[in-house]
Amino acid sequence: MDLRSPFVVSLIPLPRQEGSHMTWEEEFAAPGDLGVELIGVPEGSPVQVSLSLQSVSEGVWVSGQVHVNLSGRCSRCLRDLEEERTESIGELIFYPERKAAILDLGEDEDAEDLPVIVDDHIDLEPIIRDAIVLGLPFQPLCRPDCPGLCSECGQRWDDLPEDHHHEHTNPTFDVLEGIRTQLEAEQA
Ligand SMILES: [Zn+2]
Ligand SMILES: [Zn+2]
Repeated sequence: MDLRSPFVVSLIPLPRQEGSHMTWEEEFAAPGDLGVELIGVPEGSPVQVSLSLQSVSEGVWVSGQVHVNLSGRCSRCLRDLEEERTESIGELIFYPERKAAILDLGEDEDAEDLPVIVDDHIDLEPIIRDAIVLGLPFQPLCRPDCPGLCSECGQRWDDLPEDHHHEHTNPTFDVLEGIRTQLEAEQA
């Protein structure tokens, strides 16, 4: 664990007694790869994290919210998108000995992946990353009914008059259109 990472929280101020809690509020610059292909958190933009950390028998329960700016592109019309997003976090970070005990039981196949406290520190990076990235759309839209682009000229339907269309004078196209009409007639 890299203790200099802004995502790493020290648990030294948090008594291990069950029910003890502390708050952790931080704002830091987003790392470079917080997003998916078409939308994500711009590198260097503020990530605001407001969390409550509570000691429970198994470890520390981390809950709260993370707030980010998103920037991306509409997957249909390629327009730039800017929005803000707040995601909730709720995650149990295990004491090392509790995780070891769960692993010993061998009942949970995914136990190896359980988050764990290391030397009184928690690395929030994978938790914050999941909270943001898993909520991002792979095909972001500027609005749900975005009509996208005209497939012939590539202009935005939003910018085109209602009667926009293309005359097909291309002979190759006419031949193909003829074949299509014929096939449709045969199928009917
Ligand atoms: Zn769009
Ligand atoms: Zn067009």
